Amino acid sequence: MISLSELKTVLAKPQKIVITTHHKPDGDAMGSSLGLYGYLIQKGHHVSVITPTDYPDFLHWLPNNSDVIIYTEAAEKSLELVNEAAVIFCLDFNTLSRINELGEHIRATKAIKVMIDHHLEPEDFDDFRHWNINACAAAQLVYDFIVNELNEIELINKDVATCLYTGIMTDSGSFRFPSATSQVYRIAADLMDLGAEHWRIHQLVYDNASENRLRFLGYCLSSKLEILRDFNTAIITVTADELKNYDIATGDTEGIVNYALSINGIKLAAFIIERTDKVKLSLRSTGDLPANEICKKYFEGGGHRNAAGGASDKSLAETVATFKNILIEYKTQLLQ
Ligand code: 5GP
Ligand code: MN
Repeated sequence: MISLSELKTVLAKPQKIVITTHHKPDGDAMGSSLGLYGYLIQKGHHVSVITPTDYPDFLHWLPNNSDVIIYTEAAEKSLELVNEAAVIFCLDFNTLSRINELGEHIRATKAIKVMIDHHLEPEDFDDFRHWNINACAAAQLVYDFIVNELNEIELINKDVATCLYTGIMTDSGSFRFPSATSQVYRIAADLMDLGAEHWRIHQLVYDNASENRLRFLGYCLSSKLEILRDFNTAIITVTADELKNYDIATGDTEGIVNYALSINGIKLAAFIIERTDKVKLSLRSTGDLPANEICKKYFEGGGHRNAAGGASDKSLAETVATFKNILIEYKTQLLQ
């Protein structure tokens, strides 16, 4: 580990810097990454944002999005930048497996690795850590890092404020989760004062669906939702064919699991989807029910207590059966 003053000394001179974030980046992953990017370029650094995979269209309006390099589309260039970087910022994830094969390349570099993250149980691969599981978003921690560690609030311009607001808004469920503390509202207010247009950001992220996506959502809710009242659990399963029929792209399925959790009395919601390579699970829970524990124990995943994800190499039907069996273990908590 290095100290903050050592990191500040390194960042005092223009450096080659890479910012990366997790597989299938969401609003917080892209908002925190492009927010930090907007800050660092003002300091004269040569900065590249590299994502392990593509990400939803509804995030492509973010300031400086056109500078993002997608590893799966430009692997050689990405690795060149990673190998030349003096500093690599790892945002919104804390285990290198979350960035696929890019992870082992980053582990092997001599670069100073800085983790800015809010997930549980960080892996020990970093040299400097700005980590707090109580933060509602990695973007909140980027704000805190710039304002309170680097003392440079004046470099939060409109672009940076817009990106950081987007990360905070999306990861706090539009400021409705318990993680949206009064402090988060104060930061959001600061970001608005610094140029973030809250109404416009909300519209660009949430009122930007394709017709297909909305029809697919309707189909999931009317035909694919299974309610297990004995376990206060709701499951939505989707096959690869159904994804194809509705022409579903990256990001189109985001948020669907929350509708299942919005049903009266439901404590656990699962969205189980047959992707080309594996079956992917998205879990949401209420209260103390540990969605992350379920994902970690049974589906090679993790996340937060009330929002977690994982995957399975079994068939869709087998994965759903496994998931249903697991519910017995959590029955007392589910029925509380
Ligand atoms: P989502 O269900 O929206 O994909 O993800 C919800 C949360 O779970 C996010 O905070 C994300 O970081 C985490 N998560 C999703 N998939 C995985 C996974 O495969 N592994 C781990 N460790 N975390 C995941
Ligand atoms: Mn996040």
